[in-house]
Amino acid sequence: MKIHEYQGRDLLRAYGIPVPAGQTISSIEEAAGAFKAATASQSSPLAVIKAQVHAGGRGKAGFVKLVKTAAEAEAAARFMLTNRMKSPQTPPEGLEVSKLLVAAGVDIADRAGGGKEEFYLAITTDRRTRRNVLIASREGGVEIETIAHERPEAIIKEILHPLTGLAAYQARNVAARLGFTGKLINQAADAMVKLSKLFVEKDCTIAEINPLVIASVTGANGSSEKQVLAIDAKFNFDDNGTFRHKDIEAMFDPTEENPAEMKARKFGLSYIALDGSIGCLVNGAGLAMATMDVVNLHGKTPANFLDVGGGASEEAVTEAFSIILSDKAVKGILVNIFGGIMRCDIIAQGIINAATNYKNADGSTGFKVPLVVRLEGTNVDAGRKLLTDAKAKLPTLQAATDLTDAAKKVCAAVG
Ligand code: GDP
Ligand code: MN
Repeated sequence: MKIHEYQGRDLLRAYGIPVPAGQTISSIEEAAGAFKAATASQSSPLAVIKAQVHAGGRGKAGFVKLVKTAAEAEAAARFMLTNRMKSPQTPPEGLEVSKLLVAAGVDIADRAGGGKEEFYLAITTDRRTRRNVLIASREGGVEIETIAHERPEAIIKEILHPLTGLAAYQARNVAARLGFTGKLINQAADAMVKLSKLFVEKDCTIAEINPLVIASVTGANGSSEKQVLAIDAKFNFDDNGTFRHKDIEAMFDPTEENPAEMKARKFGLSYIALDGSIGCLVNGAGLAMATMDVVNLHGKTPANFLDVGGGASEEAVTEAFSIILSDKAVKGILVNIFGGIMRCDIIAQGIINAATNYKNADGSTGFKVPLVVRLEGTNVDAGRKLLTDAKAKLPTLQAATDLTDAAKKVCAAVG
């Protein structure tokens, strides 16, 4: 599960990592007021307007803008709320932006030798060592992907102890290697330790700050000081862990998800949309993958991955059909079910009922697209007989003898 940056910033704040103040808006009219609030305590006003979508690469796409006046804030808000954001991390058609973060802008310190003081910091799981790992780089900011690819030596990795996590000495060591000096070493190390604590306590799969910056701030006596600040936050959580974090679950934003996948989740089905033409309805993830392979082998590509789970009840099949057929690219459906605990004759009857009662977009009932059913398992003969006998009611229905037969039939039927 992903969350928005503004929610990520709240989490960082809750764990004591310094983040500039800000608020979200969802209309152009709110921009000027939010700009004034964000810059109220600054002598030379600077705010940043940022699109809140579940995708990165916003800076390069023009969806992170520094603004100095209320009018500029309004113009930036207008641009972001009326254009779709396209980046290498979005679908080709881009994402609609409905919420913006308006935060106090940060004066990022210049780095000796050129550039700005922007760092990359993340905690994730390293599969090779089967440990959590701190990943850090002195070259944070919008180029991190390129840098990781072209100069992997610019990326520092520090493995976390499975029980005690990231030790303070490890964090200080990494901070020094990143080039932090003086009291900023402790500030950066503190951010790393807190981020790793957050990562573990909230069951994250990734917790990322990019960039962590050295900001030039005006101290209490008017002098210029340096301070470590997080100005972006990206989190991903383990879906199997969210049940024990009501605060995280509450951050879920359904508008950022594929609607068909959302509907499937509601009915306990696992559905992943793909871009082929054959809808696949299967019980069990392994069977789903085998089915997709066999469809590919016979010349077509799957439109989805849909696992109805062990039960394959009539209700689940009905929902699965409607989810699959909500994808207009689907030209035929292959049902591949192994009847173990649930008997094949019961499953067959469920499929027949679901297909007969299926409501088409034009108001008529009964399945119109080619439907090939392959059953195997307990009472399979009774199940196949039911399917064959249903032919009069369901002219597009075909029973298959095995998986290869099923794949051939459905590929042939869609032409
Ligand atoms: P992303 O492109 O989606 O990762 O968005 P970020 O929030 O990381 O912003 C992209 C870039 O914009 C950062 O790497 C900074 O260089 C710049 N940026 C963002 N916020 C500020 C700010 O408050 N002050 C300054 N000077 N630059 C900022
Ligand atoms: Mn970023």
